[in-house]
Amino acid sequence: MKKFVKIVSMTVAAALMAVTFTACGDSSSSSDSKSKGSIKFGTNAEFPPFEYVVSKGVIGEFDGIDMAIAKQIGEDNDKEAKIENMEFDSLLVALDNGKIDAAIAGMTVTDERKEKVDFSETYYNAKQVMIVKEDSDIAKASDMADKKIVVIQGYTGETCVKKLGFSYQSFKKGTEAIMELVNGKCDVVVIDSATADKYVKDNKGLKIVEDNKEFENEEYAIAVKKGNKELLDEINKSIKKMKEDGKIAELAAKYADSTN
Ligand code: GLN
Repeated sequence: MKKFVKIVSMTVAAALMAVTFTACGDSSSSSDSKSKGSIKFGTNAEFPPFEYVVSKGVIGEFDGIDMAIAKQIGEDNDKEAKIENMEFDSLLVALDNGKIDAAIAGMTVTDERKEKVDFSETYYNAKQVMIVKEDSDIAKASDMADKKIVVIQGYTGETCVKKLGFSYQSFKKGTEAIMELVNGKCDVVVIDSATADKYVKDNKGLKIVEDNKEFENEEYAIAVKKGNKELLDEINKSIKKMKEDGKIAELAAKYADSTN
């Protein structure tokens, strides 16, 4: 009987050890994704057609141009592309503290951001535009002076409006900003061109006004932690290939047309 108790307790101990072991294994695979052959991409999935949430996307519930690019970068480097969804404002911090390996979020390369992170080759040209109601009299950036302007917090659109010296209100999500406009609570939303196209297509009664003199060209790139040359090289090789073989243009066309 004694012997039986001993065997049982040894078995229980072994089982407990196994459980502990598995738990350790699991946590290390999620915290140190690189050694397990994966790239953890951070994004803010509120930016169609680049990243948004659907029931079945190209990576889990995430879909869009950037998500397809991230997936391809993973495949090209024999790694699994994982997505971590967070606020746009948190992406650079998350890179710095190692929560994510790379940020792919329709992110414009700016001098200010370049001080904090390293950017990949650029992969998309954009610019800020104004979304207004169809009957709006806003025809250029300076016409916004006495209007109710809405921007998205931390986006380059906010920087542009700040530079113009106009007061504005900022929202965390593009969809919230568009709802303000649709409901007549503001006069204009300043946001990136491709995303603006998407919102105008999906919401009746809106139009886009451009001001190419006031709003400069912007270029999107993927950000990595400063000095992470190994990952940057992998990403750059893949982006170069996708630019050359037409994959990015193909994705841009596909997602601009898709309904989400
Ligand atoms: N291109 C803009 C920026 O970099 C907006 C990006 C985004 O919302 N994902 O600020």
